[in-house]
Amino acid sequence: MARIKCHECSGQVSDHARICPQCGAPVIATIKRRQKAALIGLGIRLAFVTVILIIVWIILHRLANQTLAPLKAIQQQQQSH
Ligand SMILES: [Zn+2]
Repeated sequence: MARIKCHECSGQVSDHARICPQCGAPVIATIKRRQKAALIGLGIRLAFVTVILIIVWIILHRLANQTLAPLKAIQQQQQSH
């Protein structure tokens, strides 16, 4: 746990503190770290959703191919006659 300088009162604050204990100003390093963590979390969730969507698309595509395969075979038979 490092000590950093408060941007408002120049007092020493823990870099994990939300606010300065002396003046009550929000600690920017903590805010930036939380924003970064939130952004990374959002990125991970987006990547997860994308992977799920790709898997669902592949499954639906295969199901559609399996379902339509007999129909296509019949169509090809009819065309060859
Ligand atoms: Zn302060």
